[in-house]
Amino acid sequence: MAQMKYVLVTGGVVSGLGKGVTASSIGLLLQSSGLRVTSIKIDPYLNADAGTMSPFEHGEVFVLDDGGEADLDLGNYERFLDVTLNKDNNITTGKIYSSVIERERRGDYLGKTVQVVPHITDAIQDWIQRVAHIPVDGRDGVPDVCVIELGGTVGDIESSPFIEALRQFQFRVGSKNMCVVHVSLVPVLGVVGEQKTKPTQHSVQVLRSLGLNPNLLAVRSTEMLEDPVRQKLASFCHVSTSAVLNLHDVSNVAHVPLMMEQQGAAVAIMEHFGLELKPLELTQWRLRAERADTKMPVVDIAMVGKYNGLSDAYLSVIKALQHAALAANHTLNIVWIEASHLEPKTKEEDSVKYQAAWQQLRSAMGVLVPGGFGDRGVEGKILAAEYARTSGTPYFGICLGMQVVVIEFARNVLGWEEANSTEFNPATPCPTVVFMPEGSTTHLGGTMRLGSRRTVLQTINCCAAKLYQAERFIDERHRHRYEVNPEMVPQFEEKGLLFVGKDESNQRMEIVELESHPYFVACQFHPEFKSRPMKPSPLFLGLILAATKQLDSYMQGAKTKLEAAAVSTAY
Ligand code: GLN
Repeated sequence: MAQMKYVLVTGGVVSGLGKGVTASSIGLLLQSSGLRVTSIKIDPYLNADAGTMSPFEHGEVFVLDDGGEADLDLGNYERFLDVTLNKDNNITTGKIYSSVIERERRGDYLGKTVQVVPHITDAIQDWIQRVAHIPVDGRDGVPDVCVIELGGTVGDIESSPFIEALRQFQFRVGSKNMCVVHVSLVPVLGVVGEQKTKPTQHSVQVLRSLGLNPNLLAVRSTEMLEDPVRQKLASFCHVSTSAVLNLHDVSNVAHVPLMMEQQGAAVAIMEHFGLELKPLELTQWRLRAERADTKMPVVDIAMVGKYNGLSDAYLSVIKALQHAALAANHTLNIVWIEASHLEPKTKEEDSVKYQAAWQQLRSAMGVLVPGGFGDRGVEGKILAAEYARTSGTPYFGICLGMQVVVIEFARNVLGWEEANSTEFNPATPCPTVVFMPEGSTTHLGGTMRLGSRRTVLQTINCCAAKLYQAERFIDERHRHRYEVNPEMVPQFEEKGLLFVGKDESNQRMEIVELESHPYFVACQFHPEFKSRPMKPSPLFLGLILAATKQLDSYMQGAKTKLEAAAVSTAY
């Protein structure tokens, strides 16, 4: 296939409709018909990347192999398509303007007035075309299709240069090579539950007034759309009835690509491109969707964090837990615990929350402390680590979740009461976790230790080596500024807290494990970003297996039934 094909996914009516899942599902359908798919997410904000944004506002910051700090939708693409994206696969207004201003300063536009049209719009199109041609599936050669998701809702002031660029792009690549899918919402009003089409009509009008016609509508709704509603949408929105896909609510997102397939999405897209659709291979995906709906014993994992209830803030951690739970034949139940509630309180109303938080922690079968920044809730996380260590409850700590393990151990086992991280107390007399020498204290954007780095395993006799089934090293993604103070390592190890993974310089602690504990493992990296439905991340799998008392048998038989099940059917 010589000419690159583009699928553009836009959104209307409200944000948060699941454009990312829709775009990923389209990618998956095309991929399962044998095409090579890549994707680009456009975020029309001014930040250069998502790295400086609070998870409260924008969900988790997804970290890529090359160190890019990106929107969480890139995680959806990586998980659905099992690809490895680059930082350039996430376009922001900040990146586009910086590149144009840099060129202006260099004199590339000498004599010209530099303007949104054509300079910004050209830069956007050049960027899309360049990045679309970069393979992301580990093979040489150019992808066949690039799925582009435009963040925000059409009509936003911020996204207008992108919409204009994409309007022009139809002429650059030929409108037959670009398929526009507009995601919108049909709300239900009144006691009779009338499905309302007007918001979608209006958002399509806005899209069309900006020069883009939808080829397909992907309509979100709580219940299935009624036929007359579908017809009405078609006649008012300039599409055929068969081009109105209905993505009604389903029990789990794995059903979305299947539902789209059933409604003819792949056929319609390929027809638009003038290409023949090869039969889709969705057996594994179907099994996954069914398995996720199957009733299995529940595993309760306490998640001790500070963005509780905001599942987007920990999206990849939740996905990785789900992948692992399914592989271990269990249904995941996350017990959300606000870390600060575990801290002793003086006020009476707070003490109710305190009691409840501790009761929840004690009832969980495993404890997970995810990454985090800033001191809110840190003491609660330290208490959670102490509880897991002393009670023999399986524990898994990620990044900050590893740093609190080391602080807790220093305080309570080594007796260094004032042990702390210099992140939380720069003047601590006992700095167990310290700022990394190469970090910047003046520039906070993109200056952390980021992306894929190698961890050298120090022994094959540790949980990590066995779970990864690796003897020498593993590569995982990082995002941190602080590290375990290497000078204190001998004292920790003497008391049984072993640093079984270190970086290649042998100075940076990467994985820590406690001797004589069912499962007490923590890592400086973020393994959640590389967990895939078909390949659950090993340390997450370890936590779930330990919590469900299956770890020993898994460790003993290298190829147990469980492992075989995990590989063949689980996601
Ligand atoms: N705040 C800690 C650091 O910068 C941990 C970071 C994280 O958990 N991602 O090292």
